[in-house]
Amino acid sequence: MISLVGGWLLWRLRPAAIAYVLVVQAVALALVVLVLLTSRSPLSHELVTFAMLAVTAGTVIVITSVSINVRRQIRRNPWTMHIAYLAAGILTLPPNLLVLLLLGPSLHGVLDGRPALHRWLFTTAATTIATLSARSVIGWEEPRWGPVLFVLAGAVLLLVRACLVAFGIRLRNPDAARQDVLGEPIDVLLGIVAASLGGLLAVAVSSEPSSALLAGPPLVLLDLASQLPQWRRSAQRDGKTGLANAAHWERLARSELDRAQSRAQPVSLLLLDLDHFKRVNDEIGHLAGDTVLAAVAMMLRSSVRRDDVVGRFGGEEFVVLLPGTEAEVACTVADRIRRSTAALSVPTRDTHGEHRELKDLTVSIGVATTFRFGYDLTDLLVAADAALLAAKSAGRNAVTLAS
Ligand code: GH3
Ligand code: MG
Ligand code: MG
Repeated sequence: MISLVGGWLLWRLRPAAIAYVLVVQAVALALVVLVLLTSRSPLSHELVTFAMLAVTAGTVIVITSVSINVRRQIRRNPWTMHIAYLAAGILTLPPNLLVLLLLGPSLHGVLDGRPALHRWLFTTAATTIATLSARSVIGWEEPRWGPVLFVLAGAVLLLVRACLVAFGIRLRNPDAARQDVLGEPIDVLLGIVAASLGGLLAVAVSSEPSSALLAGPPLVLLDLASQLPQWRRSAQRDGKTGLANAAHWERLARSELDRAQSRAQPVSLLLLDLDHFKRVNDEIGHLAGDTVLAAVAMMLRSSVRRDDVVGRFGGEEFVVLLPGTEAEVACTVADRIRRSTAALSVPTRDTHGEHRELKDLTVSIGVATTFRFGYDLTDLLVAADAALLAAKSAGRNAVTLAS
């Protein structure tokens, strides 16, 4: 027991986060006990409906978990498909059977081998509170619902859980990115789709319980769809720096150039190459090199406007497309980036594990503009590359405008 408690990792959280997690779990537990003590015995048709929903959900959970484990993938968001059958349960089952249906998300957590027990307990507790709150919207013992109450119950289910989880993440890590706290916009859409499917499922099982089985394939599809943001990110982003990868950057750059051409606006392109980067790898190590690449990427993003398109072109080469920007301003931006690079101080470790503060990094930058080379991306890249070579030949740590 001691080692289990120690292994929870819960105790390593900040005190406010520990208190919050414990309160959420205590409230969930109290609600479950209250439901089990106060609910009447289920009627036989309710037991059949529960059995059909549970068999459908259980089968989908096992199939999707086994397929994820066999393919050695990591599931991103296991919540979406649960919304659907929980919503159906909220609308059709007595509270004590609804509590049993909550074993579904827990089963998923166990089958997926979720790493941190305290996190799993916390999300299960948040799901329980959200589900029982949604139920209270449509009446506790004998639910009554029309379109308005259905939408309200769905909103309560999604919002209560999202708020409980978001608040927990914020307490655990006040610096967490907005996307990590609130999820991606597509998660909201998928949540609404899942809740709607739950509504349809409730109507179907009310007249024919075995029709729950028809929800199986859509539930699998929802589970697959909830992986979409992960697939899209890995297809578009470079893993080391988080910037657009070369292929995605090219697509974005071409579309910006087309738009600018149709409006006859100028566009500038910066091609950057870190100077003597091989030395960082050779003298301090490849992990230190990777840390420098990530630090340069972050500096680049914060040095340009939101609409400028920043990408990792190759190894230690980066590209920035500056829409609506003439040569003079582009050279000013490039020089600002050059000076910011020289001012960077990157904390890292060498191959012996010793702390090292990496300084004196420099970058060479070639600049090309549509005014001189037109709106074809390849022409611009060739010109910027020639300017970059000229900057290297001129002694590095320099900005050169292609002419
Ligand atoms: P120059 O000033 O002429 O650009 O010298 P350089 O050493 O930067 O140029 P070179 O092209 O010879 O070397 C680039 C190096 O970048 C080679 C490679 O080890 C390193 N590199 C490329 N991609 C990565 C990466 O993802 N991580 C790390 N750590 N190093 C990388
Ligand atoms: Mg290079
Ligand atoms: Mg280089």
